[in-house]
Amino acid sequence: MLNIALFGAPGAGKGTQSELLMKKHNLVYISTGNILREEIRSGTSLGEAARSIIEAGGLVSDEIIVQIIEKKITSNPDAPGFLFDGFPRTFVQAYILEGLLLKMHTSLTCLLFLDVTPEESLKRLLHRAKTSGRSDDTEAVIKNRLKEYREKTAPVARFYRDQGIFFQVNGAGSVEDIYRQLEDIIDKELRKVLFNIVLLGYPGAGRGTQARKLAQNYNLVYLSTGEMLKEEIRKRSEVGQTVQNICDKGDLVPDEIVIKLIEKHIRRNPEASGFVFKGFPRTLVQAYILDGLLRKINSSVSFTLDIQCPTLELIKRLDARGKTSRRMNYDMETSTIVHRLEQHEKICLPVVEYYKKQGKMTVIDGSGTPEEVWSRIEEPAENAWRRAR
Ligand code: AMP
Repeated sequence: MLNIALFGAPGAGKGTQSELLMKKHNLVYISTGNILREEIRSGTSLGEAARSIIEAGGLVSDEIIVQIIEKKITSNPDAPGFLFDGFPRTFVQAYILEGLLLKMHTSLTCLLFLDVTPEESLKRLLHRAKTSGRSDDTEAVIKNRLKEYREKTAPVARFYRDQGIFFQVNGAGSVEDIYRQLEDIIDKELRKVLFNIVLLGYPGAGRGTQARKLAQNYNLVYLSTGEMLKEEIRKRSEVGQTVQNICDKGDLVPDEIVIKLIEKHIRRNPEASGFVFKGFPRTLVQAYILDGLLRKINSSVSFTLDIQCPTLELIKRLDARGKTSRRMNYDMETSTIVHRLEQHEKICLPVVEYYKKQGKMTVIDGSGTPEEVWSRIEEPAENAWRRAR
């Protein structure tokens, strides 16, 4: 999800650039100034509360701002991303934005600063005053708005500098030139956004096959906890020896062990453009853990696939796999196969619900050949990839 905030003094050109960026990236535009002016025009109580402050060139309270931003964000649940103009304007609002985006399991991609001198701002706003009809476009009020900007808004830059997502562009150039510079920055930042896929489904549903295909297609790192554990057992490592019995029975390995393994593999791939997780998360607790692990690298789950298959088909497939070299120890006996399927039903379904609630879940019919299943995955995966960028 692409979320951009345009930052700069009044008159820096945020509105003009917003229009271009919004069209290019199909973003939902949130201009707190426009929303407040609309509230005033409609005579709402919120508008009435804001009117005198705006007319004096002051900043409206953070309480009012959080209400209007939250309303706008929650009324656009399918937005491919947001473009904020005139927000955040205070340190408190920077925290508010963090919280609101976190609630949507996303974050700000970049804050773009259009840098203009106070003299240039004043000149532009006085010019705009001739046609804008805005009650706050008078010289005295403009000066107060610029003072508010200097004292309360400009320091917010530090918040984003610390996060490494603050980018400055000289706002004195031509509209086209500035737009090109902004696009370059966005393009570079988008390349850094990881595409993380979680594959869910019962054992035997074909997750491994499709996970590898997804990893290959999008140049992602494939992480299968089952295969990591198998490797540890093969190496007879300390972890391997601890988990051998548990794995043989088809039971779940304790979270502490799995987290360490996943974290090790994530750290081993600092240049990855994303990960495909198979076999993890398996419980609701692990779903929260994965969010935490990805948060550490400034990322999140982008897309979740639940591959569904009839139970009889699953048993047949696992039984057949048990007779090949690809077998897992728990594929060898029908009773362990059934035990694992039962375990899955009990524990893993809340994980499906977890991602469903976040609107990140796509259910796929897992019957047929791997190619047939892939043909059902291709389109939703492509859409998710585009959404993530
Ligand atoms: P703008 O259209 O962004 O220049 O905003 C016009 C006026 O609306 C500002 O001078 C403030 O009084 C008020 N306003 C807009 N956005 C905010 C915000 N994020 N926080 C506080 N006041 C705001």
